[in-house]
Amino acid sequence: MALHSLYVDLNSFFASVEQQLRPELRGRVVGVLPVMADTTCCIAASIDAKRFGIRTGTPVWQAKKLCRDIVFVQARPPVYVEIHHRIVAAVESCTPVSAVLSIDEMACDLMGSDREETNAVKLGRQIKQAIYDQVGEVLHSSVGIAPNRFLAKTASNMQKPDGLVVIRQDELPQRLYGLKLGALNGIGRAVEQRLNQLGIHSVEQLCHASKDTLSRAWNGVEGERYYAKLRGEAVASAPTQRSSVGHSHVLAPDLRDPDSALAVLYRLLHKAAMRLRHYGYCAGGLGLHLHYLKTDAGDARWVDQARFSPHADTFKFNPALAELWQRRPPDPGPILKVGVTLTDLVEHSQVTRDLFDPDDQHEPLNIVLDQINQRYGANTLYFGGAHRGRSAAPMRIAFSHVPELQVENDGEG
Ligand SMILES: [Mg+2]
Repeated sequence: MALHSLYVDLNSFFASVEQQLRPELRGRVVGVLPVMADTTCCIAASIDAKRFGIRTGTPVWQAKKLCRDIVFVQARPPVYVEIHHRIVAAVESCTPVSAVLSIDEMACDLMGSDREETNAVKLGRQIKQAIYDQVGEVLHSSVGIAPNRFLAKTASNMQKPDGLVVIRQDELPQRLYGLKLGALNGIGRAVEQRLNQLGIHSVEQLCHASKDTLSRAWNGVEGERYYAKLRGEAVASAPTQRSSVGHSHVLAPDLRDPDSALAVLYRLLHKAAMRLRHYGYCAGGLGLHLHYLKTDAGDARWVDQARFSPHADTFKFNPALAELWQRRPPDPGPILKVGVTLTDLVEHSQVTRDLFDPDDQHEPLNIVLDQINQRYGANTLYFGGAHRGRSAAPMRIAFSHVPELQVENDGEG
């Protein structure tokens, strides 16, 4: 099978951007902080800092212990977004970018003769050089080339910094055996625990596991897709070409007041989130639709949308809905119909975790929620008082969220 995908991942992106723009930081141990405070954690560490064991999530006190000479700088998200767009343009000067997966990662589908190894490697070198020439000479990247996108991303992780790694079809699956389970994209802590419970503790065992076993580990179709991805197959998303999941509901006359309408909206949201997880997707946007009952001028519609870094966590969708709800126009009359839509879908396995939330504590809770509701009927377990929790859980704009994140539904995993 030919090489179908090339993956570009910038090394120590935020820290490297700071070193690019501030030459005095080059060669230094740099920690990027969300705020300049001793109580916070590094959201990025420079290539030199990683040699001291400092990485994303290292608390400031610990980073200081690991390297006394560390320099802390405050993150500048708008700057990183601007550089991101310039990097995408640099890559596009070599070959079309098929999907942007995070602020510092993008995938290119290889076409024609680029699918041959020598040409693919040449293209990889060109891309790295284009980033140096067009954006900045200290912006190193790791390029992975493989039969599918999942393996290309895996390859990009195998050599850092400044890597260029090819995984060929005839090297599968042995080439993957040296990796840890958790190092594979799509294997978070919860999935790893379920794999362990099924007797799978290594990538070698994962590669030998049956489709059924993987379906159990992933609680659904994502397991079957994972089975195919490990084998270098191009994997169709299921359901194909899906770009949103939503529900709407016409309210009964006694439910047309704001409190009841909001309660219905939460139920619709939780149903949509459950379907989202069932399909193995994350959503990067939430839309709220309200149709008001207008007796004189017909119906009036109001629509608004929130964007965030893609996830599939009901506990995080709740405050986003609460925030949208607050934005609605003040009292234009009874609400006739309500709807929610989860938009900007990306495959769960392709999502880079929120940098502020490296350990997703909610994943097992969401799975339990879905299992109970599937067995005993939707809304058996639901979030009482979720709307009152709004101020306790304000929506965050994460750095891993890229404005105008391109979402692709070409089905390639
Ligand atoms: Mg990176």
